[in-house]
Amino acid sequence: MIVVLSQGCAANFGDGEKIARILSQTSEVTFEFPEAKSAHSAKAENSTSAANSSKNIAKLDGNSADSCGKAASAANSADSTGTVAKSVPEAFYLNVCTVKGNAGAMKLLRKVASTYPSVPVYITGCAPKDFREEALRAAPHVQFTSLKELEASASLQTQPAQSSQPSQNQSSARTRNNDKENPDSNRIPHNVLRESPFVGIVNIEEGCLDACAFCSTHLVKGRLHSFAPNTIVDQVQALVDDGCLEIQLTGQDCACYGFDIGTNLAELTQRILTHVNGNYRIRLGMGNPRHVLGYQEALLDCFTDDHIYKFIHIPVQSGSEHVLKAMNRRHTARDYATLAHAFTERFDNFTLSTDLIVGYPGETAADFNDTLELLKETRPTVCNITRFVARPGTVAARLEASAAAIPDSIKHERSAILAETFQQIALENNRKWIGNECIVVTEKPGYRPGTTIARNEAYRPVALQGTFPAGTTLRVRITDAEPFALIAE
Ligand code: SF4
Repeated sequence: MIVVLSQGCAANFGDGEKIARILSQTSEVTFEFPEAKSAHSAKAENSTSAANSSKNIAKLDGNSADSCGKAASAANSADSTGTVAKSVPEAFYLNVCTVKGNAGAMKLLRKVASTYPSVPVYITGCAPKDFREEALRAAPHVQFTSLKELEASASLQTQPAQSSQPSQNQSSARTRNNDKENPDSNRIPHNVLRESPFVGIVNIEEGCLDACAFCSTHLVKGRLHSFAPNTIVDQVQALVDDGCLEIQLTGQDCACYGFDIGTNLAELTQRILTHVNGNYRIRLGMGNPRHVLGYQEALLDCFTDDHIYKFIHIPVQSGSEHVLKAMNRRHTARDYATLAHAFTERFDNFTLSTDLIVGYPGETAADFNDTLELLKETRPTVCNITRFVARPGTVAARLEASAAAIPDSIKHERSAILAETFQQIALENNRKWIGNECIVVTEKPGYRPGTTIARNEAYRPVALQGTFPAGTTLRVRITDAEPFALIAE
């Protein structure tokens, strides 16, 4: 059994599935971390809870697993007593994401290396030089490959592997591209995933049209490639027909969807809302503000439909025009503010989500103050605040190595100020819901025992007293609020 573990965005999960598809020609493949436990302790832990032990580790459901042949059977190999019969894996493929730093990928690698020290580990995905060095220090036996290498090797191979033991050239030894030989391999589109029986993910595009100075993703993913709208509509309908209540449209930059094929995100969303029937809500993925401006009115109109969460994620990154220029962001702080006001003024309790990077090289106290003021002006309910970390090979990495770098102590100080301000704003935004009734769909158990987390129509997390199965629709009354959740009864 080979274990493929993916992190990060849907596109990376999609790559993980492609890798699994290639590997599954010669071995069983699973997407779950097999806990090395005694039979006694394993009995208490089924494969789903193992998969959920890290929220960044993918567990594809049975449908998706079908696409890579043997995945489902390997993932769920429990005997009639419920004891999980896990064998030691042949190899791990860690399809890592380091967009937000190396910590998550390193944690995953350390877990794999400490649990199965003698099992070969192959790393694919977004693995820049500093991550490779850190990974080799932590686990000298790791080897690096890529989806491209595996695909290239697969296309050269016409014979299946003779040995199931991976080697440095594991891809050429084990793989062959037999999509043509296996009609089932084409049944599941590569850009569709299931996060759970009730949440489907459709990757609508790959790549982007920008070259942000801090970003290594565009170096890996390249230029925009949008998937056909009709195909996406069919995929969404198929997921809804199969029980999905939430459909996430994702991509590197959803906002530039369609620019390469003569359409845009608003037209795609409208097409989905018009043609897909059933009980579902669309959640739009992250999008660059400058693109949204081009079809803002049409997108706003889409949000009048109840089949879309009143939620938008438009990362601004900084409130300083000077820093945005240095980041090569190609939008202004005012562009973002214009959009923020348009959405939050048109719809009550709309959830505005954004991202901020603090401590970008050259960020002055005045620049930081601009960011703080923009946060106060636009009042997002979700805000991902990241202290700047340079990604190797990027323009920003050269700046971080210069005198323009901001000391860590100042980064910490500024991020703490932003976090405190943001949490107060989020709390005030959430308090506006108190007394409202809303329809929620349950998602997962809450952090506090005996509670459940659900989502309302604005994609806000709602903490409920009591335990409810995932996918349950309930009418609740909001009784209290916290910065990161609404409380309901
Ligand atoms: S839009 Fe910028 S941050 Fe987003 S993927 Fe493209 S280059 Fe990276």
